[in-house]
Amino acid sequence: MQIKTLEPYASPKHKMGFLCDWRVTMKCNYDCTYCGGHDNRQAHPDKELCLTMLGQAMSYIDTVMDVKKPRLRSATLNIYGGEALYHPDIVYLLKESSELYKKYSHKWSLTRLLTTNASCKEDKWKEVVKHLEYVQFSYHTEGPGKLKENFLRNLEVTHKSGKRYGGIVVMYPKNWQECVYMLKFMQKKGYNIQPKLVDGPTGNYTEEHFDDLRKFWPRLSKELTDKMQNVEIIRRGRACCGERLMCINRDFKHPAKFVPQPNNSYVGFNCSANQFFLMADSHTKSFYTNKDCRVTLDGKLGALATSDTMDDYISSLKSKLENDSNTYLTCVQKTCICGICAPKSTSIDELKKVMKVYNL
Ligand code: SF4
Ligand code: SF4
Repeated sequence: MQIKTLEPYASPKHKMGFLCDWRVTMKCNYDCTYCGGHDNRQAHPDKELCLTMLGQAMSYIDTVMDVKKPRLRSATLNIYGGEALYHPDIVYLLKESSELYKKYSHKWSLTRLLTTNASCKEDKWKEVVKHLEYVQFSYHTEGPGKLKENFLRNLEVTHKSGKRYGGIVVMYPKNWQECVYMLKFMQKKGYNIQPKLVDGPTGNYTEEHFDDLRKFWPRLSKELTDKMQNVEIIRRGRACCGERLMCINRDFKHPAKFVPQPNNSYVGFNCSANQFFLMADSHTKSFYTNKDCRVTLDGKLGALATSDTMDDYISSLKSKLENDSNTYLTCVQKTCICGICAPKSTSIDELKKVMKVYNL
């Protein structure tokens, strides 16, 4: 089947909001061997730079929200690192996020989500969670014992407080016994924590590992199958990382989880990812379409703007959207990873039709 138009299956339960990823720092107080997402040789970004970029990210979101239908005006701010909590000014930055958001709060809703190893002391944790709507916990066996104790205490406090949260135990084969023990322990406590398999060469699992997990984690079979078939799958297509159902060529009767697109490539498609995503990277002082998509409005690969040029970029986008909300990317990236769910089409007219679901 040739894919010409791709969009998420729109239902009240699965509305497509806006996702802004904010990388606060590259540094982490852990140094997990399987992690490619931190770099402890780098300095923490300056707090004023972080604050400026956060303000610019909110301004970008607001610009895009102006063209969206009122019921779809919701955004998630994913705050991460390295380890965001390790940034010395994180409490200040989170407090400021509450201040910055005030002027938009009557226009669109915001969920601030912190992805974290939750290893800070209790006092700091209590301050941090005041400015979050959701916490995504990650338990890493390679962390120091004392900090892992902090994780458990912060998890318990959060669980009891009724705040929304989820979490994972990274199932590192080298520390298997601890991973299994901790998972069982957290499961017994009723925490919303799931196992997560490690990708790449460090995620080398044996059948014994899988047997261990299958005993008490039925969902594993799906994650396992995905992992085992990952290489094969990426060549044949891909599923949405947010597990959304997708509609191909506007066929709403047969939504699909897996999108069979060769090499997972949408080069030449008109794509609305710029109206659903933004990545603010305080480490490089740059903004990108999202964590994986580097396509820019002028059909190149790279940053959308730096913190120095972002205000002008937003003004220009605003006037483009005011004249015509159909301001989209033309894909030039060989592989689409995160961003597959953004409506896209080989025909600009078809994409405009799809976007009537979302835009005024
Ligand atoms: S805690 Fe997370 S960011 Fe830090 S080293 Fe481990 S995996 Fe990487
Ligand atoms: S790589 Fe970016 S522009 Fe290309 S289809 Fe994916 S999200 Fe859209």
